[in-house]
Amino acid sequence: MQPVALEDLDIRPAAPLLIVDVDEVLAHFMAGFERYAARHGVEMRIDRFALFQNMYRPGESEPIDFETGKQLFDDFFRHGADDLDPVDGAADALATLSQRAGVVILTNAPAHALESRTGWLSKHGFDYPMILHSGLKGPTIAGMAARTSGPAAFIDDLLPNLESSYESAPAVARFQIIADHRLRPLAPTVPERHALHEEWTTLGPALAAVIG
Ligand SMILES: [Mg+2]
Repeated sequence: MQPVALEDLDIRPAAPLLIVDVDEVLAHFMAGFERYAARHGVEMRIDRFALFQNMYRPGESEPIDFETGKQLFDDFFRHGADDLDPVDGAADALATLSQRAGVVILTNAPAHALESRTGWLSKHGFDYPMILHSGLKGPTIAGMAARTSGPAAFIDDLLPNLESSYESAPAVARFQIIADHRLRPLAPTVPERHALHEEWTTLGPALAAVIG
């Protein structure tokens, strides 16, 4: 599996299109990052929908500062991001859906994450073109969806990306899944605007209904 530049992305002009996030959609990011942080003396106490604000030195009551968190995050994508568990059912569901739809992986991760990200995706059966992205995803989704007359759907865990997609490309169906069961009850959602799923066992059929 190779990363591709947006302009080189091959989108079939009449085929359905699925645009899929990685962390907390295909990969258990929080749990993997938690294991990595623990090896560096930082523990996760998940009591809000956040990352660094849930991370503490043992025995301390204030979370680590942003700089410490950012350093751990950057190092994780250098040394630890191969160690992520795949989300149950995601690979099988996408394999089936990809018989009819184009699948594009759209992931926000640091540039130095390119190798670990593509390696992880290949290893776990997600052999689809990947765009390494930064920032809100709506405009990029709009650009991709404009290249096919077929139906399109976008799957992400983060409400800001789903809202961005709604604003930039309202015709693209939106689905939210938050794989980490500890984060799920804390996550901002707007289920009447972005269909909310807990498992790929229901998300897969819902996507199949969109792509027809
Ligand atoms: Mg994500």
